[in-house]
Amino acid sequence: MNGFREKLMRFMYGRYGFDQLGRFLFGLAFVFWILCFFVRFLPWQFLYAMFSGINTALYIVAFYRILSKNTYKRTLENEKYLQIKARVLPFLSKKTEKLKDREHIYKNCPNCKAKLRLARVKGKHTTKCPRCGTKFNVRVWIEFKPKYNNPYNY
Ligand SMILES: [Zn+2]
Repeated sequence: MNGFREKLMRFMYGRYGFDQLGRFLFGLAFVFWILCFFVRFLPWQFLYAMFSGINTALYIVAFYRILSKNTYKRTLENEKYLQIKARVLPFLSKKTEKLKDREHIYKNCPNCKAKLRLARVKGKHTTKCPRCGTKFNVRVWIEFKPKYNNPYNY
C-alpha cells in the first residue's frame, strides 16, 4: 500500500495536478457520459458517436492537464476559467431566479425596453410601463396556482 503511494507521489512530483478547471472538465465529461446513456436508445447513432467522442476528448484534456509539467500554462488556463465563470454565473443565477418566480411574468416594454415584472394572472391585460408610460397588451397563457393557498380546498 505504502509503496504504491510513494510511487504515485514520485510520479506526480513536478506535475500540475487537480484544479477548478479540472473539476469542471470532469463534471462536463460526466454530463456527456449521461447524455451517451440516453442517446444510446435513440435511433440517431451519430449523436451517440459525437457525445462519446466529446466525453473521451474531455477526459484526455483533463488527464493531460493533471499530468502536465508546464504548471505555469495550466495555472493561466485555470485563471481564465475562473474569470469566465465569474462572468457567467451571475447571468445564470438570474435566469434560474426568473424560472423559480412562478407568480410573475417578465416582459420588456416595447417602447423603452424596460424590464417589467407582472403578476401572473391568466388572460389579456393592458399594462402601463412605469418608466415611459407606454400602454401595451400582455397575454398570460398559464396561470400559477399556489398549492396550499386555500386550506379548505383539499
Ligand atoms: Zn417603457
